[in-house]
Amino acid sequence: MFFKDKHCPTCGGSGTQVFRPLNEKERPTVAPEHRRLTDLWRCTAPGCRWYQRWSKQSEGGRLPEELKNPEADPV
Ligand SMILES: [Zn+2]
Repeated sequence: MFFKDKHCPTCGGSGTQVFRPLNEKERPTVAPEHRRLTDLWRCTAPGCRWYQRWSKQSEGGRLPEELKNPEADPV
């Protein structure tokens, strides 16, 4: 399941990004205060590490560097 039309604070700009739920590899890496939350989503934009609670951008943060989305292929 994917959602569109969500603004990503680290991608910035006025556009929106596609978000998907955190997977089992990503979930344990979130900040301790976020681990009890069940509705955590991440931005799927290339190079992005942002995750957040669906309804609340203030409850979010950055995933570790190794879980960063792959960069887009250079054109
Ligand atoms: Zn992003």
